[in-house]
Amino acid sequence: MNEHDSERIAGLLEADGYRPVAEAAHAEVVVLNTCAVRENADNRLYGALGHLKPLKEQNRRLRIVVAGCLAQKDQGLIQRKAPWVDVVIGTHALPSLLDLIRRSELDGSQMDVREFTEVFPSALPARRGSQHHAWVSVSVGCDNACTFCIVPLVRGPQLSRSLGDVLSEVQALARQGVVEICLLGQNVNTYGRDLTVPESPRKPRFAELLRAVDGVEGIRRIRFTSPHPHDFTEDVIQAMAECEAVCEHIHFPLQSGSDRVLGLMRRSYRSERYLGWLDRIRSAVPGIAVTTDIIVGFPGETEHDFQDTLSVTEAAQFDAAYTFQYSPRPGTPAATRPDQVPKGVVQERFDRLVALQERISLETNERMVGGSYEVLIEGEGRKGRLAGRTRTNKLVHLDAELGPGEFGQAMVTAAHPHHLDGELAASLVGSTSRA
Ligand code: SF4
Repeated sequence: MNEHDSERIAGLLEADGYRPVAEAAHAEVVVLNTCAVRENADNRLYGALGHLKPLKEQNRRLRIVVAGCLAQKDQGLIQRKAPWVDVVIGTHALPSLLDLIRRSELDGSQMDVREFTEVFPSALPARRGSQHHAWVSVSVGCDNACTFCIVPLVRGPQLSRSLGDVLSEVQALARQGVVEICLLGQNVNTYGRDLTVPESPRKPRFAELLRAVDGVEGIRRIRFTSPHPHDFTEDVIQAMAECEAVCEHIHFPLQSGSDRVLGLMRRSYRSERYLGWLDRIRSAVPGIAVTTDIIVGFPGETEHDFQDTLSVTEAAQFDAAYTFQYSPRPGTPAATRPDQVPKGVVQERFDRLVALQERISLETNERMVGGSYEVLIEGEGRKGRLAGRTRTNKLVHLDAELGPGEFGQAMVTAAHPHHLDGELAASLVGSTSRA
């Protein structure tokens, strides 16, 4: 979501005539778009602002903008700690960015941290990092209240975009040559719950949205992130199985394998139900890759709880896992719990989980060796080779005379925990393959 917002910020500035420069020293405007989900966002923000201070002293016309979650959360604190900041703009106020920059030139520092989104960031111009891939937000905010998570605080309650708006954006992107889209929402499964459709008793559902987007000509790959295991539904599985462009990959956040910890996290599913969903997804969509998020060392987590996480990880056979060491996010309920797990213990558990997942990732990747898979070229990879992604979102390094956005068929020659090596078997122009 943060990356998506950054593309909008760059797009707004470019539409106003600004051009990117390589160094802050040559800039007229510097925007720091913060993400409070990541650890140490505060330290990194104030570190970066410290580096910008001398530039501001040399050039009073330089505009320094702080955007994103930390701007929303810390609001006036940022300008108190770094009075050389010109604009603090929250997650809901992006459409006002240019206005705030101009006003700061005339009237001094500005802040807009309004509580509600009036214009979806997706409706703003974008300067996309890729010509063939685009993020499309289907909703912003979240109605859940996971006790470790800052998102509801900084992004507010869920607000869905109308199905028609999402579809129009995807159609426009397809006309611009985009072949892969990723539908974005904090909890895509509850998409539409907050919408009312005139003269219809029914609210749009995520599965319908998937089917509608699947019908857009030119879009060959559809991804989405993230579904919540509590709100997952059979109709989404059916749509995934039946929609040709929907990729065989799901990011399905587990967070913990311990039912007791899931309760403490206020995640309203249990490990058995989670694994049940995986069985159903895998039998409906053969060959699907599953990735996940896992937090280690949530307050109160015991060795027994952690063993449950290891067991569920083994049972789930994830293709990859984003593993995080718990760190308190001020303002969240878990941050004030007295039973924080000592750092050394968290690190030691984290190392064990990473070792287990590396083994599983390598084994799942090894099963692909000798197979042939459609890859979409992203650009340059390591050691002068190209990097492409399979429909299952595996990174493949290969040599080929192809450019970003082109498709090829790759024979996988070697497996590693985080990528595959391959050889080009064929370049593909007009076909969509489920291989
Ligand atoms: S569902 Fe996701 S975004 Fe919402 S509170 Fe939980 S972790 Fe945060």
